[in-house]
Amino acid sequence: MGTGDEGLQEKLRGLPPVERLLQSGAAQAMIRAASRSIVRDALREAVDAARAAMRAAGTAAPDETALLADAAARLARARPAALRPAINATGIMLHTNLGRAPLAEEALAAVAEASRGASNLELDLQTGRRGGRGEAVAELLCTLTGAEAALAVNNNAAGVLLALSTLAAGGEVIVSRGELVEIGGGFRIPEVIAQGGARLVEVGTTNRTRVADYRAAIGPATRALLRVHPSNFRVVGFTSAPSVAELAALARETSLPLVEDLGSGALLDLRRLGRPAEPMAADSLAAGATLVAFSGDKLLGGPQAGLLVGTGAAIAAARAHPLARAVRIDKLSLAALEATLRLYLDPDRAIAHIPVLRMLAQDEAMLLARAERLRALLGDDARIEPSAAYAGGGALPDGAMASFAVSIARGGMGADALARRLRAHRPAVVGRIAEGRVLLDVFAIADAELAEVAAAVASA
Ligand SMILES: *Cc1c(COP(=O)(O)O)cnc(C)c1O
Repeated sequence: MGTGDEGLQEKLRGLPPVERLLQSGAAQAMIRAASRSIVRDALREAVDAARAAMRAAGTAAPDETALLADAAARLARARPAALRPAINATGIMLHTNLGRAPLAEEALAAVAEASRGASNLELDLQTGRRGGRGEAVAELLCTLTGAEAALAVNNNAAGVLLALSTLAAGGEVIVSRGELVEIGGGFRIPEVIAQGGARLVEVGTTNRTRVADYRAAIGPATRALLRVHPSNFRVVGFTSAPSVAELAALARETSLPLVEDLGSGALLDLRRLGRPAEPMAADSLAAGATLVAFSGDKLLGGPQAGLLVGTGAAIAAARAHPLARAVRIDKLSLAALEATLRLYLDPDRAIAHIPVLRMLAQDEAMLLARAERLRALLGDDARIEPSAAYAGGGALPDGAMASFAVSIARGGMGADALARRLRAHRPAVVGRIAEGRVLLDVFAIADAELAEVAAAVASA
């Protein structure tokens, strides 16, 4: 060996051993956030990289601080993304915490295609001039709802805000006391009206409101009548509320716009799927509503979006409002939305391809068969029990849907601990806890996900 080699060996001996680095305060902090073995691996990689660099360039050994910083950077790079896939075993189909509607394959492909490179998002390919974003989606919405015009924005909350800002700013909006709801996530109708620059005028009572109540409240400052789907909330018993057609007649007579927040809304009559009817934008428009707003990622089964459909004049005014730019839809959602809406042009295709509709179309035999497959994968201590699934997203709020759940127990482990381990799995499995048991409802689990669910239970 030459003297150069001896010099290098001498320098390499200057590298601190991994076990000593592990004792440092910085490493102890990393261990609290990750695990000892993961931190040890990161430190080993940092020391190996330093050794290789020293061999290649003959540099001096980095100090402990530099090695610890390199290990911390390696840990950060290796950390799993915070947004991770999950399997929805809650029995709530449109779970806002779990990202609501899963997309159809066609919509996923459209997102990938539109985002990999450039697209004609706002370019008219025929003339080579600027085109309008979302024109194809607007045309599809008109075809599917019978609207004169349509506009897709970021989400339904934004759609309602834009509608009220456009039609009612500076004036009064009349709403029934039975519809002053909070949807969740802080979306409260009175606050949205205030944000839209309008004053709320409440009419009627929580359980009963008549057309005459609206009529009596109309004055020179009135700008709009607002009707809201109470979504996640039901008043039962001695109740009454005017129909859309009755309110539309009053709106026409008084030359006021009628705005309706349908919440989930449906583009297809859910009775086709054996479920109770859910309000449809087409019906509201046919009854005379001026502007109807609904969500893209609830019953429609598409991406997060807010859909506004209505008269040409109302939509043109909304499109021209400065807020429209602030709440515009992004290109990925637009691509997914167009692909989803195209499926609706053939309702049978929509039911076969859109996961939300496919789930709603499941009958008890299909659900039981899936529960049996899951139980078979899980082993002896798993039991099938009847369960109640819900559409979620404020749709069909009083409609519990018959479903099945597989209940699992792990000897000695409490339900909370078991549920936590299932959530820690990749993909996370999110079930429900009832009476000390973990229940995995099969309503919103895809057949292709069953093996993953079983893997999660096995590793718990
Ligand atoms: C869900 C809902 C909203 C909010 O829709 P997002 O698309 O989540 O913004 C607004 N109004 C009603 C009645 C709803 O049910």
